Amino acid sequence: MNKYETVIGLEVHVELNTKSKMFCRCSVDYFGAKPNTHTCPVCLGLPGALPYINKQAIEDCMEIGLALNCEISNLSRFERKNYFYPDLAKGYQISQYRWPLCINGWLEVENEKGEKVVIRINRAHQEEDTGKLTHSNGETLIDYNRSSVPLVEVVTEPDFRDTAEVRDYAKKLQQLFRYLGVSNADMERGDMRLEANVSVRLEGTKELPSYRVELKNINSFRFMVAAIEYEVKRQIEALEKGEKLVQETRGWDENKKQTFVQRVKEEANDYRYFPDPDLPVLEFTSAEVGQMKNDLPELPWEKLERFVEDYEISLNNAKILTEERISADLFEEAIKQGLEKQIKPQQIANFIVNQKIKLDSEEDIASILESIANKKVDMIEDESELIRLVQEAITENKDSADAYKSGKLGALNVILGSVMKKSNGKVNADKIRQLLEDNLK
Ligand SMILES: [Zn+2]
Repeated sequence: MNKYETVIGLEVHVELNTKSKMFCRCSVDYFGAKPNTHTCPVCLGLPGALPYINKQAIEDCMEIGLALNCEISNLSRFERKNYFYPDLAKGYQISQYRWPLCINGWLEVENEKGEKVVIRINRAHQEEDTGKLTHSNGETLIDYNRSSVPLVEVVTEPDFRDTAEVRDYAKKLQQLFRYLGVSNADMERGDMRLEANVSVRLEGTKELPSYRVELKNINSFRFMVAAIEYEVKRQIEALEKGEKLVQETRGWDENKKQTFVQRVKEEANDYRYFPDPDLPVLEFTSAEVGQMKNDLPELPWEKLERFVEDYEISLNNAKILTEERISADLFEEAIKQGLEKQIKPQQIANFIVNQKIKLDSEEDIASILESIANKKVDMIEDESELIRLVQEAITENKDSADAYKSGKLGALNVILGSVMKKSNGKVNADKIRQLLEDNLK
């Protein structure tokens, strides 16, 4: 069999949590609201209604772009994307096509070998969301509450080579949206949506494949990874059989664990894009952009690096502590207060991570510092002591160890439980799990 290389590009849509919609005053807080109660002549596209641009949405989009190392175009503009489908009452979607707000960015992610790779970002542009169609009993119901909610689309170049990179990228973007406070980025609610363009080529080839399969409407990281892996296998098998692959959109069937054809892809020029005559062009001076870049909060990956350097905590602990901005901020506050009581940052980090404490308030800090100061919990950190406990537990639970080795992965929990018991819970469960896996190879 020939050797193949995977070529993946990602499109991420994120709904912004501004107060009002993209081009009118309707509230975006439509979740759970009665259908068609968050609408007005502008977002319904009634004759004579004129749109105006939501400034906050534009600023949010620029923040996203700047955080992703994009340049801000000194001139950008909105265009109409024309198509015939009732999810937008106007008959077109206002989007950006030839003049996007943010261009030429990049983000560093980790591949499956744990190496760092750079993913180029083509653009982060501003557009509006569509309404929601519900099909049932041969009827279609339309709810325009979501129509015209501000939406940012972040598009990468086809730079992903494995699903670990895709996963890391999507997670980083979700974390970024939350750090910036521009969206809840909840996948299940549809605040954040992923689309992947997947194709394969012979290893060593430089040109992009002549086709690409677009995976759409997949609402979890896990399903997206499964869909890409299935698709890569399907495409390689087809090519090996001498079949020709075509440009198409596919969805994911979680029950059958396979992708299925949704429609044959249209080209961008089918949409007859043209500049929206009702909206002004957007222009920014380099001073304005510079100011905005300065005002960005510390980004999650910057915080992660600083925590490891400044507090000398492990990379794993730093990752957990910086997952959410609020817990990262509270951790730093705990360090400040802890130093007065001569408690080291590493002790606080270990305690929070080992005890799986979610830092939500000042009270959490007080009780954590008290526990550490009173040595209520004295964690076992000594590696050789941990290994001794692990080996003892394996010997005592030989049946479970054998079951695990023969593929019953769940049996590991029995031995893990035994270690926890022996140590009175004074060990880090994740660390022990890792040691067990290493010792049972
Ligand atoms: Zn409206």
